Amino acid sequence: MENGGESGRKEEKNNVKWKFQGNQGLKSSAVSVRGVFNVLMQSINKERDAVHLCRVDPTDNPFFRADPVAAHALSTAVNSGNFNGYPPTAGLPQARRAIAEYLSSDLPNKLSAEDIFVTVGATQAIDIILPVIANPGANILLPRPGYPLYEFRAAFCGLEVRHFDLLPNSAWEVDIDSLEALADDNTVAMVLISPSNPCGNVFTYQHLKRVAETARKLGICVISDEVYGHIAYGSNPFVPMGVFSSIVPVITIGSLSKRWIVPGWRFGWIATCDPNGIFQKTGIAASIKRYVEITTDPPTVIQAAIPEILERTNNEFYSKNLDITRETANIFYEKLKEIPSLTCPHKPEGAMAVMVLINLSQIEGIIDDVDFCVKLAKEESVLILPGVTVGLKNWLRISFAVERSALEEGLSRLKAFCVRHATMSQQISA
Ligand SMILES: *Cc1c(COP(=O)(O)O)cnc(C)c1O
Repeated sequence: MENGGESGRKEEKNNVKWKFQGNQGLKSSAVSVRGVFNVLMQSINKERDAVHLCRVDPTDNPFFRADPVAAHALSTAVNSGNFNGYPPTAGLPQARRAIAEYLSSDLPNKLSAEDIFVTVGATQAIDIILPVIANPGANILLPRPGYPLYEFRAAFCGLEVRHFDLLPNSAWEVDIDSLEALADDNTVAMVLISPSNPCGNVFTYQHLKRVAETARKLGICVISDEVYGHIAYGSNPFVPMGVFSSIVPVITIGSLSKRWIVPGWRFGWIATCDPNGIFQKTGIAASIKRYVEITTDPPTVIQAAIPEILERTNNEFYSKNLDITRETANIFYEKLKEIPSLTCPHKPEGAMAVMVLINLSQIEGIIDDVDFCVKLAKEESVLILPGVTVGLKNWLRISFAVERSALEEGLSRLKAFCVRHATMSQQISA
């Protein structure tokens, strides 16, 4: 009792009527990834080493190491002593210029430093861009399955969310008809993620063009989450949405986290790809500028390191990491085929996670995806995110950004689990 904690609190004596309460916008009904993760962690069988196939942090794989170029760039910035002050709003000019050049090498319409705003990871880019477009009554179209931060951020800034489907049997392409049917006069933007977390697909040039033309028809802008930009190791090359910016204005979100394997450095960016000046006309450009004036910036030393990181990281670093990712994706896909009751509809060809369908009719004693993951944690000490956390009930979202032996161990335990829980008819046919 004396040690405080909940039970140690004193009873409130006076009958004060407190007027404050938690923000209603934070009381989202959606399932939070961290909330589910905590439940899984509590369920885990402590007698066995846990295999984590749930979060995507490439540093979890010891074969993924940052390029020494990045460490050199950062230590040079620190040791110079020139970058200890506050950075200018929107970012150091040399960092903005370097990002504009980096992105422009894949674009027909070149970007300038003024099109770039540096952010604290892609997370802050999302935190900035949603409120910027959230006028009262506005709605945004988000992919299902998707990246949950968009839902939470939208809810918190009063932006209504509508979901369009990604089609698992058509390489997770956008269901264009459902997209069009969802939009109305208050729809302002749509979000696209390619290469995709959580689906592991990479949209083709043709498909992106169709999406751009649809967005133009609807009069909405495209927010393109390219945090996994260039992490494409299948047959579809990475195509940035900015390629279609003369059809529809595009806000590109990027970061150092995944491609350069430094998620802890918390550095990202927003790029406005808009050769026709539509963001100027509609006040979006001014709103972004206004917002970055009142929010925080990435550390100045990291910004100072950006030109060297973007210009000097060598191609071997990128291609070695792609090789590792391709190999783990292949192992994942082949091993998954041997697991009863689970189906991966599309072989991963980009990013570091994938969606897998649970065929519940072939499994006994499991109600849904959350139940599946809790029991899997209990029985096998394997942690996987239930699909409901990314918008698809009765699916699993599996991260394969782990070391090969951990992946193989995780998948063999997953198989043991599925075999043990298979219905009688499945066991007989097997
Ligand atoms: C990891 C990730 C982010 C967040 O990136 P940070 O730079 O770590 O903040 C945003 N979007 C997607 C799709 C991601 O996978």
